[in-house]
Amino acid sequence: MWRIGYCFSILFLLALAEQAFAEAPDLWRIERPAESRGLSGQHPAVDRAVLGSWLVSRVSRDQRGGKLSPSQWAFVPGERFALPLPGVGRVEISFDSLWNTAPGVDVYAGRIQGRAEWLFTFSIDSEEVLARFFLEDRVYILENYLDRNQLVLHEMDRGRLPKSPDRPEGEHLRSLSYNDDGITIQSTTPPSCSSFTPSGANGHARVLFLHSSDVSSGISNLIGSIVSEFNVSADNSRVELDNFITVADIRQVGDTFDGLCRGPILDQMEAESGAFQGLSQWMANTDADIAFLLVSEDANADQGSLCVPNLGRVGGAARILKAFDRPAYGLSTVTWALGDLTAVHELGHILGGLHEGPVPFQLQEGFAEAGVPDCAHGHVGSSDEWMTMMGGYVECPFDDTQPDPTQQSCTRLPIWSNPFMFHDGELVGDADTAHMAVALEMTMPIAAEWGASASPKPQSAPTATVQSQFCRGFNDIFWTAVPATQVYQLVESVDSTFNFDPLKYFGASTVTTVTVQQGQTRYYRVRACNGNGCGPWSNTVSAAYFTGICQ
Ligand SMILES: [Zn+2]
Repeated sequence: MWRIGYCFSILFLLALAEQAFAEAPDLWRIERPAESRGLSGQHPAVDRAVLGSWLVSRVSRDQRGGKLSPSQWAFVPGERFALPLPGVGRVEISFDSLWNTAPGVDVYAGRIQGRAEWLFTFSIDSEEVLARFFLEDRVYILENYLDRNQLVLHEMDRGRLPKSPDRPEGEHLRSLSYNDDGITIQSTTPPSCSSFTPSGANGHARVLFLHSSDVSSGISNLIGSIVSEFNVSADNSRVELDNFITVADIRQVGDTFDGLCRGPILDQMEAESGAFQGLSQWMANTDADIAFLLVSEDANADQGSLCVPNLGRVGGAARILKAFDRPAYGLSTVTWALGDLTAVHELGHILGGLHEGPVPFQLQEGFAEAGVPDCAHGHVGSSDEWMTMMGGYVECPFDDTQPDPTQQSCTRLPIWSNPFMFHDGELVGDADTAHMAVALEMTMPIAAEWGASASPKPQSAPTATVQSQFCRGFNDIFWTAVPATQVYQLVESVDSTFNFDPLKYFGASTVTTVTVQQGQTRYYRVRACNGNGCGPWSNTVSAAYFTGICQ
């Protein structure tokens, strides 16, 4: 994704961006009602707006095959632009990082209005674009219509995404009935969080993504954005960089699971029955630690557990950190994964995350034995208007009759509970009861051990070099390849201490482009990682803003 020689096009696009601001009132055309992504009901799932030519101008298409061309893509980490959103007005988007998290997919992630809790992701592969804007009370989805050369913005009607708890605590008592399973429950105490210091152990969990045969369109972009959103939200919540997820593989399964609610699908995964025959072998072949299914909604589903009255199969479900000897499996319906953070939330469950509030006493031993710490909980704000990633709509409910997304009482924010972070002036966690940032540092190294990893972790450090594009803040950063590497992590710091070092690039490439704001110098280093951990950091390089005339 490097663009030496593209300075002219970038300047041109910056000019376009300025023009777009001026044209803001006409940028969107709202069409109502709109198509529904697999949802049926009285009111449409989404409002739809056709975006003007501005964002389209940033997607190149080759002349012969009509493929989208990421190599000419004009977004660069560090870049900022403003975009008018219908009903919100102009918001500033900052592109913070580039993620190559699914094969053939570039995901640009960033903040909206500079806020880590307002997440923006933009995925592009050779066929399609998928962008998502998670604002506090609104979720927008941007997709392309290839035939019309247009991008279409959907505002999710969150009233169409009713949130019954995905994993009612009482369900565990009934469906797991661990005393009947013959599982020996040892008397263990959950690890405490307030005394935990990161071990730096390998917390790289590889996920085998499965999808039902009716949701293949755009699936790579969706998976790329789910993985990026997990990692970006963890990075934004100050989870140590040793802990991240990657895609082990993407595989279609030959079923649409008509009539089945969530419970029996998870049961089929566990039994390796039906379309899941060979699942454990697929996981072994790809060094996967976790299997996660994306499946469509089914309003007529009424078979098995975890059905929602009148809605059938919606939302997601997961097994928690192999507690009670259950495997590391989860699922989400596609619309919920798109319109909510359901897939990331369910992956959080698989990695030990629990909803807000205490764990029922009867379940404590099982979770403790699995290694789920005391603090592995979501956190709900005192206003009951927001919750962190592992919030389960338990303390702050969701009104599934309210179609206006801004009138919903409760929102799941794309951050993990952390007692040292704030949202709207309030702490988003508690050191003893809600600190998922530290809990993930305890549980992800456990998850990383579930699947076999063939090669030892990378032993050597890459050697990094930087090359200015001699145009504004654009700099290309190169590094040497390290054997047995699956992903490189490039981090940025305001000084050479790297005390605060957000990720800028994550993927298999050995070059990326960054942008430095005027008057600034930024420091970078990179390291190589695989399923067994990460090697040492490279040398430090610095990049600055070029004040001369662009060459
Ligand atoms: Zn949940």
